[in-house]
Amino acid sequence: MKFDEIQFKGKKALVRADLNVPIKNGEITDNTRITACLPTVEKILQNGGAVILMSHLGRPQKKRKEDGSLDREQFTLRPVADEIAKLTGKEVALAEDVAGEDSQKKAANLKAGSILVIENTRFEEGESAGDKDLAKRMADMADIYINDAFGTAHREHASTATVARFFSRENKAFGLLMDRELREASRVSSDPNRPYTVILGGAKVSDKIQLIENLLPRANNLLIGGGMAYTFLKAKGGRIGKSILEEDQIPLVKRIMEKAKESGVNIHLPIDVTAASEFSENAQVKALPAGEIEDGFMGLDIGPKTVKSFSGVISDSKTIFWNGPMGVFEMKPFASGTIEVAKAIGEATKNGAYSLIGGGDSVAAVIQFGMENKMSFLSTGGGAMLTLLEGSELPAIKAMGG
Ligand code: AMP
Repeated sequence: MKFDEIQFKGKKALVRADLNVPIKNGEITDNTRITACLPTVEKILQNGGAVILMSHLGRPQKKRKEDGSLDREQFTLRPVADEIAKLTGKEVALAEDVAGEDSQKKAANLKAGSILVIENTRFEEGESAGDKDLAKRMADMADIYINDAFGTAHREHASTATVARFFSRENKAFGLLMDRELREASRVSSDPNRPYTVILGGAKVSDKIQLIENLLPRANNLLIGGGMAYTFLKAKGGRIGKSILEEDQIPLVKRIMEKAKESGVNIHLPIDVTAASEFSENAQVKALPAGEIEDGFMGLDIGPKTVKSFSGVISDSKTIFWNGPMGVFEMKPFASGTIEVAKAIGEATKNGAYSLIGGGDSVAAVIQFGMENKMSFLSTGGGAMLTLLEGSELPAIKAMGG
């Protein structure tokens, strides 16, 4: 069912959101994820429904107290419930358990127009195991299930997948945030405006193989930067010094390059690099041709000629997907490749191209450079967006099917 078609009047909606916000000494340091889920919550309330919100927060099962018990004070959703109250101007109740006695009681008494937050789903061991009994207890509290937690859609947990199976098709839907992520992802995975350019970077090629294999047949250009480029350069017979290399991936990388050639996809590798004597901001730095890196040096960023050539391809594109930084952007001497590529994408977007930035580090880089408003869409779901674009089915989406 579509979110807009559901009748919420007089109903209780169990909303799985991603409220996993950073908290320091009990204070939320970034409330983006909370504000992101509010349109869904407010729509349900406006339509006469009540909302039972649930989310995980951190890893309480892994970070237990010394005596082995759960650190409820550190991982409680109390600050999140308080923040929602502040942002909505409503009273927000917090149940002291996860779909246990207190949650059931508070859910049963919940009035239309009200919000109840239940405790951190990961307080229950059954959450990560996708436990059916836990999921049933969650489902028992509500009439409708809404999944708005795109960032955890690649996990088969009780609150993200199992619970959905207890609701009929008419009584479950994706929330507004998740729906948007899915629509944006489809713009770069099915029938994109052409030319379509995929830009990949980041540390390791092995992490991105499935992504390359799925996107290669759909793309016109593949620009490769970051640490992963050196395995490609080595596979082409270049000298890469002590740059990051995954020797065991060379045969696969060669096959990818052959496949690209056969299907007319242009793979662009770095032409020049900023190389360093060590992995440090204070290293000796040299500009070198990409396939001629001296022994004792490692490539830590793409060079200015590469930036120019990549920017040219980007400015001719109508659809752009970017994942992974072009260099070690966290260190100032190696950030300019990533900054310049971000600028080129921003410029192309201004001229009418569609751009999607997905995957943790490139999103972090764009935000760090203050360029988030220059892109068409920044995905909030790092791992989930990558899994989706790798062509894999997300468990939380599959669970909505029946
Ligand atoms: P990923 O999570 O795979 O997207 O990788 C992101 C990380 O790759 C960032 O922390 C970058 O510092 C790192 N990275 C980018 N380029 C290089 C490079 N040339 N050598 C080593 N690490 C790199």
